[in-house]
Amino acid sequence: MHAVTAETQAIVDLVLDYSRRRLLSTDTPLDKPETEAELSRLAGRTIDEHGMGATRALSVFEHVLAPACITIDHPQYLSFIPAAPTKAAMAFDLVVSASSLYGGSWMEGSGAVHAENEVLTWLAAEFGLPAGAGGVFVQGGTIGNLSALVAAREAARDRRTAAGLPAPARWKLVCSTEAHSSNKSAAKVMDVELVLVPAGPDGRLRGDAVRAALEEHGDDVFAVIATTGSTNFGIVDDVASIAALKDEFEFWLHIDGAYGLTGMLSPLARPRYRGVERADSVIVDPHKWLFAPFDACALIYRDPEIGRRAHTQHAEYLDTLTGKPEWSPSDYAVQLTRRPRGLPFWFSLASYGAAAYRAAITHSLELAQRIAEEIRSRPELRLVRDPELSIVVFEREGWTMDDYERWSTRLLEEQRAFVTPSSHDGRPNTRFAIVNPMTTFEQLVGILDSME
Ligand SMILES: *Cc1c(COP(=O)(O)O)cnc(C)c1O
Repeated sequence: MHAVTAETQAIVDLVLDYSRRRLLSTDTPLDKPETEAELSRLAGRTIDEHGMGATRALSVFEHVLAPACITIDHPQYLSFIPAAPTKAAMAFDLVVSASSLYGGSWMEGSGAVHAENEVLTWLAAEFGLPAGAGGVFVQGGTIGNLSALVAAREAARDRRTAAGLPAPARWKLVCSTEAHSSNKSAAKVMDVELVLVPAGPDGRLRGDAVRAALEEHGDDVFAVIATTGSTNFGIVDDVASIAALKDEFEFWLHIDGAYGLTGMLSPLARPRYRGVERADSVIVDPHKWLFAPFDACALIYRDPEIGRRAHTQHAEYLDTLTGKPEWSPSDYAVQLTRRPRGLPFWFSLASYGAAAYRAAITHSLELAQRIAEEIRSRPELRLVRDPELSIVVFEREGWTMDDYERWSTRLLEEQRAFVTPSSHDGRPNTRFAIVNPMTTFEQLVGILDSME
């Protein structure tokens, strides 16, 4: 299995050939989920003591398993938050695996870590964070948020201890009622109290509402989360007014920008993000709108030393790594072993340059505005909110959830689009989440036309 032989050469050729075909395919269908029973029937038993051989195993993957996985990078995948990795990023993911790179420590992966850090430094500068800001690529926004919040609590705890004060009976975390579920999950894992602050009627969290929470809960609050691009609507909180409270209150400002912080890279949306430069930590998922393959979240601390103190694991066999001043990515989040998952993004960004990224992001923003205009012009459709970033939420007059479900199922059955129902305030709707530069206005109009 490990030696280079005629057999292993043939396996490598087989896999690279498949990868090449998939990467360069222009007509991979959307595909769709299959039932467990049907998959069992079609794939048969694949694991036994003797092995089925790579040719057969790849054949099962290609003809049975892969078609039962929805093509996330399809231009007409418009649900949840899609991914649309560049060809360079996808191809380089093969290199990361082929090289058995380890990205946990400087000692073992300094070259990979150097490149990842250059990306993080570049992102930090885009977000207006000072020189010295840095962090790590983690699996996703959920782990990114959790890791940032653990560091925030540690910082608050240290501050209290230094002042000779005891920790509060229960630490509190402030976020918007519209915040992503992963923030609630973090509060649960950390066993802290979540203080939910109502967003305004436009869905935006504002400083005055946060002020009320800070006045009520005082020093028990260790962090405030602002969302720059809500998952359902793409709404950017009024970060400037929240950040301004730092002049009066002591709290850690965390920006959950998993999907939407990317918008800051386009001049079209940049003005919406005033205040982000005062954040203590931010996250953005390159696997969402920064055209990287799964799974990668950039977690960036204003002062990475706080993240390092909060997260470094200690053990006799690790001291040889952790006792050194070098930058070891494992030290900055809830993790230890890690692949350098930022490298596909690094390779693509280095290859194409930042301007190509800005243009691709601007494309999504412009397309969202254009299709919103089209929706406004159709009497049977209604925008639930004006889009701010690249998510467009709308209703079809008279439709119940069942109507949306039937329509959505049919679109996928016919392999035309993957657009799922959603809801707001108890009313069913549907939404386009646009991140793929290959998505066209005409494709979206075709989907609107199908809502009869
Ligand atoms: C997607 C998302 C998350 C969670 O990120 P994962 O990578 O899915 O773990 C958190 N916050 C927001 C705003 C998101 O859109």
